[in-house]
Amino acid sequence: MLLERIWSANKWRNFHYLIASPRTGEALAIDPLEWRLCLDLARRKGWQITQILNTHEHLDHTGGNAGLVRATGAKVLAHAGAASRIGGVDRGLARGDVVKVGPDVEIECLDTPGHTLAHICLLSHTEQPALISGDTLFNAGAGNCHNGGDPERLYQTFVEQLARLPETTQVYPGHEYLARNLEFTLDREPDNRAAAPLLDEARRQDPASARVLTLAEEKQFNTFFRLTSPSVIARLRAAFPELEAQPEPRTVFLKLRELRNRW
Ligand SMILES: [Zn+2]
Ligand SMILES: [Zn+2]
Repeated sequence: MLLERIWSANKWRNFHYLIASPRTGEALAIDPLEWRLCLDLARRKGWQITQILNTHEHLDHTGGNAGLVRATGAKVLAHAGAASRIGGVDRGLARGDVVKVGPDVEIECLDTPGHTLAHICLLSHTEQPALISGDTLFNAGAGNCHNGGDPERLYQTFVEQLARLPETTQVYPGHEYLARNLEFTLDREPDNRAAAPLLDEARRQDPASARVLTLAEEKQFNTFFRLTSPSVIARLRAAFPELEAQPEPRTVFLKLRELRNRW
């Protein structure tokens, strides 16, 4: 499997992705808002974009579909539950569906509601798995639930699906928010030893060449995976004095999401 991350440098800080078959050069474009960037890279690589996949229905992920379809004739794939809102979808996807790219690449669809109720994350069937996480999981953060989402469902997605993936899984999110998210981590958990050096790195690095982080690393500094950390809980109880001494992870997650909304 060939995987390229494309930094949009737009105001929404989108990352786009191309996944291609090493055998045939057929390629899948994921959330190609700045579709010309995707097309240019595919041409430089000698790949043909034959499929487009939207992780969810928000316009900052689907707004490039029409242009890229016009340019390539690619088929559009999206969560079956989001298809009518996106329009022009050729294949509706559900949990466990496999997307094939050429004869040799298989990617599994995870049904990951929370940011919206019809959100797909993609998991590659490769020795080191790659997770294309859309707006569900960001580096050091979690998606918001402002536009059609549900924090309770997001919590379930985190604990029942994302946290259980192999630790070596590489995380490829839909936006670049690392520094801002690490500032939240340090606000919530000032003694987090992994977050401070990474924040220095994040402030210095060009998103186009940013290091890809693994799920094991995320669990060290992503507050939304650190629901039993004593310092996260202590700081949370300072903000919400009614919380019990050992709150349920679910409660911690929902309170963190609430704080992040207005932080
Ligand atoms: Zn979104
Ligand atoms: Zn987005």
